[in-house]
Amino acid sequence: GKAGIADPMRWPMVKAPKLADAATEAKITALLSRMSVEEKVGQMIQADLPSIKPSDLRDYPLGSVLAGGDSAPFNAPDRSGIGPWVDTARALRAVALEQRPGHEPIPLIFGIDAVHGNSNVVGATLFPHNIGLGAANDPDLIRRIGAATALETAASGIDWAFAPTLAVPQDDRWGRTYEGYSEDPDLVRRYAGAMVEGLQGAYSPAGSDSAVQKGRVAASAKHFLGDGGTTNGIDQGDTAVGEDDLIRIHAAGYPPALQAGAMTVMVSFSSWQGVKMHGNGTLLNGVLKDRWGFDGFVISDWNGHAQVPGCKEDDCVASVMAGIDMLMAPYDWKALFKNMVAQVKAGTIPMARLDDAVRRILRVKFRLGLFDAARPLEGKGELLGSADHRALAREAAAKSLVLLKNQGNILPLKANARVLVAGSGADDIGRQSGGWSLSWQGTGNRNSDFPNAQSIYAGLKETLSAQGGEAILSVDGAARNKVDAAIVVFGEMPYAEGQGDIPTLEYQPGDKSDLALLRSLRARGIPVISVFLSGRPLWINPEINASDAFVAAWLPGSEGGAIADVLIGDKAGKPRRDFKGRLSFSWPANAAQAVLNKGQAGYAPLFPLGYGLDYAGTSKAAAVLAQPLSEQSGVSPASANTDTWFARGRNPAPWKFTLRQGAVQVAVGNDGSTVAVGEALSLRPVDAGGLQGAGRALTWTGKGDAALTVTGGPVLDLDRLSLGNALLLDYRVDQAPAGPVRVAIGQG
Ligand code: BGC
Repeated sequence: GKAGIADPMRWPMVKAPKLADAATEAKITALLSRMSVEEKVGQMIQADLPSIKPSDLRDYPLGSVLAGGDSAPFNAPDRSGIGPWVDTARALRAVALEQRPGHEPIPLIFGIDAVHGNSNVVGATLFPHNIGLGAANDPDLIRRIGAATALETAASGIDWAFAPTLAVPQDDRWGRTYEGYSEDPDLVRRYAGAMVEGLQGAYSPAGSDSAVQKGRVAASAKHFLGDGGTTNGIDQGDTAVGEDDLIRIHAAGYPPALQAGAMTVMVSFSSWQGVKMHGNGTLLNGVLKDRWGFDGFVISDWNGHAQVPGCKEDDCVASVMAGIDMLMAPYDWKALFKNMVAQVKAGTIPMARLDDAVRRILRVKFRLGLFDAARPLEGKGELLGSADHRALAREAAAKSLVLLKNQGNILPLKANARVLVAGSGADDIGRQSGGWSLSWQGTGNRNSDFPNAQSIYAGLKETLSAQGGEAILSVDGAARNKVDAAIVVFGEMPYAEGQGDIPTLEYQPGDKSDLALLRSLRARGIPVISVFLSGRPLWINPEINASDAFVAAWLPGSEGGAIADVLIGDKAGKPRRDFKGRLSFSWPANAAQAVLNKGQAGYAPLFPLGYGLDYAGTSKAAAVLAQPLSEQSGVSPASANTDTWFARGRNPAPWKFTLRQGAVQVAVGNDGSTVAVGEALSLRPVDAGGLQGAGRALTWTGKGDAALTVTGGPVLDLDRLSLGNALLLDYRVDQAPAGPVRVAIGQG
């Protein structure tokens, strides 16, 4: 059929639990019978904080207000504390209670993007962004983070978190990649219910479980549906996949989120097969509400309805008819209100649709306990950035770190190491927190804007000085102190949504100084440990090669001390915390390799899903690496593991392996003292995209037992022929050697 038409029966069977019991439904029915058209329409409209004053709620009986991404002005002038938020919430609520003189009041629902903690509010605990939580692979951790986030949100007077994001990003160029837990639908599926339960509390059948009184908030599973599947990773673009992939990949998180009792679902800005989701009645009504039985409410994204053909910001019957119950109309809410009232009166919006939408909204308000004025946790400033929550965020950040390289086991550093801490991200809490941190795009502001937070440098300093070591901050690396190692923190600048879309996965530092810095430190003989801050995997081979160890730290949030917990060992020289992080997004083998999913044909990343080294040496995800060579790091050809290569050497068929170390040496010789005659070695990269000199082969015809050493030079650019590049070592044995041929690949 026409693009966007789904057959609901092809979708998995989900039984979303009922959000209200019979008694509550009866209350809602009675309430609806006493509401005017204006009051009903008002329930369906949400305005953004910067464009509404509490007194407006007297003239316009709106049911909801959001604090959108740029609500930072509502933070206190001294930039700390929840006071102004609570005051704002109370003022809005108080006026909303006056909306129906002579009738029972209907409470307001106030929502915010608490997407990694209550992240708009100064002083909140900032948990790692979802990409890092995905690497932690720990659903129980997710549940605990949801609960802590809910407490900090409820303490701020806010009832509703626009989370979790259940996107399954399929193209890392998308600026919202980091808001997704994983490119792997299975991981998103395992997390979705946990986060909903954390935020809302476990589902109970009672129609009102007073979640807000208990410090819980409503969750919003977003963005329904296919937000992570747009062509070329373009934000708000078109997801062109077929229905099977829409179900298998992009819808994976919704059944568990609904089963956990998710109270709201936010619609995606994107289209599916050319049809804007904000107008897709087959998926919103047909699948989400009818097939899955979702009886909470559907909210549009920020003016998302205006993108439906024929719609405007203040006028969109099509979205309402497609199943959207509440319209996020940030600033045009007055005109939208007037238009909708007229449309209901003219019958363009049927009364039954109006009643259904309002019933859903009221159901959520009852379940949250908003009709009960008690808010025991509201105003409890001590919950914001509490020691418990910060410890949890630190645990999460530590678990999210993925070790990609640890040459010569440089990590962990000894307890009392002297460390140079360099790089533009070393002492910058805004940077380590990313987008959606105090403001929509993230600020990269002064550390003083983040009370209850610690930079990576500050954490290293605290840990090292407690153990007799020292952390010397020198962002440009110029300090000349004698040190054991340098920890260099660098990476992407903060961004959010489409502003973070990029055309290629090649890492683009603001300037080239990161690489120069790494190289200059190494040239001074200082071992370099790179801590890379990013919202996605990027092609960054030159920097990896210029590092002795490389840690993907994602966007760890407020607890920079987590980095020290994992990188710095104890007095006995043992790790204090091992690396637990495993990639939840494949790491690209070249800059063009933007579309990666283990389910797709030709899946050949540099580091696959699940990859991550650790100190125990237990997890190398080696299964996916054709020939793991980490064991051979730093090993000279002469002492390389001969067994493996021995066997291979006897096999004239081409074989494939993956290099996991920087510079390359290939040595070919015979196994013993016997001279082999006429072996020809050709070494050529399989993957032309990421390698210079691709297609040209190194050919050597050796005689004698002398080894051939290839160290790059004119043929291979060592930065590109690097860690994890797949090479096809394709050698011909022109004349059978007297003994087996030994080929060793190792660190140069
Ligand atoms: C984003 C949503 C967010 C909303 C409210 C939109 O631009 O797409 O994820 O919840 O803004 O701030």
